[in-house]
Amino acid sequence: MVTIKELTDELNAHCDKIGVDFVGFGDPTKFSKFDKEYVPESYLKNSKSVIVIGFHLYDLSLDAWSKDEKKGKSYHFTDSILLYQCHQIKSFLAKKGFKSKIIPYIPGLYLKDAAALAGIGPIGKNNLLITKTFGSQVRLRALVTKAKLVYGKPIHESEYCKNCNICVDSCPAGALEGGKYRKSLCYNYCMENLKKLSENTVIWCNKCIESCPVGKLSI
Ligand code: SF4
Ligand code: SF4
Repeated sequence: MVTIKELTDELNAHCDKIGVDFVGFGDPTKFSKFDKEYVPESYLKNSKSVIVIGFHLYDLSLDAWSKDEKKGKSYHFTDSILLYQCHQIKSFLAKKGFKSKIIPYIPGLYLKDAAALAGIGPIGKNNLLITKTFGSQVRLRALVTKAKLVYGKPIHESEYCKNCNICVDSCPAGALEGGKYRKSLCYNYCMENLKKLSENTVIWCNKCIESCPVGKLSI
């Protein structure tokens, strides 16, 4: 019987092997402030851990959405990579005897909150997760599992943002003014200013991601 620490180490090593850029483990009971459809328990009863994985957007084109007009479905390049990695993690844990469920994108968990609760990084003034290595140039996915893992320490405040206002000043829609993210301002601006890579493939405004100085690498 492996210990919680040994299983966590083995899973970390597996994530490294399959190319996950970063991973964190959170306590499912810490999600009580969210509505029922956004809590891990809604996806897997008696779950013991939330696993959040992340991908570094090293190339902006990876953040493109492609729309299939006939099927009425959208396809996100980075999300397809993350989803594949989630399946590999699920398979790894199944072989160890633990059931897991990949959280759907919608409604799903609030992924950046899940990452902050797993100790990956804080949520910044840009209303996004900030990671130490990649800043906000990341996309996330999550699984919930019956495997108990070593949890990260939840992070509630962004030390990075204390003397910084760069993203707020960079937002062309003023959607980050006053310390509150205004979704409708952001959405309307994004829709009116989509960057087209091809007829059906677009990239949203990412100025709040690109402008954040945290992280060594940039797009
Ligand atoms: S995506 Fe663009 S419009 Fe929306 S908050 Fe970020 S910088 Fe502002
Ligand atoms: S640009 Fe500055 S204020 Fe905005 S999220 Fe990054 S560190 Fe925080």
